[in-house]
Amino acid sequence: MRLAHRRLMVINTDYIRDGAINVKELFKLIDLNDDVEVVLKKIPGRLKEFFTVLADSREPEIKIGRHCSNPYDCAFADYCWRTSRLFHLRHHAPFLA
Ligand code: SF4
Repeated sequence: MRLAHRRLMVINTDYIRDGAINVKELFKLIDLNDDVEVVLKKIPGRLKEFFTVLADSREPEIKIGRHCSNPYDCAFADYCWRTSRLFHLRHHAPFLA
């Protein structure tokens, strides 16, 4: 689908109500056409990267860290953190491991 305009409607923080709300001044539209065009041009290259990763049978060599739970919990955490948990269990409670 081809869109004529890509705009984002946001609250106009400069708006000061004086009497009835003036909806046309309360909101403002930000034109995102240029930003969207930049992102659209990058999509084919990113998709190619994604498919290359998916086709590789080897796991990516990424170390576990804060990025595993920030900004959100990763769905693969149980798998990736298993050796770390085993290490801590063996180190702190060897009688359990
Ligand atoms: S838990 Fe998720 S973010 Fe962390 S290393 Fe594994 S795949 Fe990457």
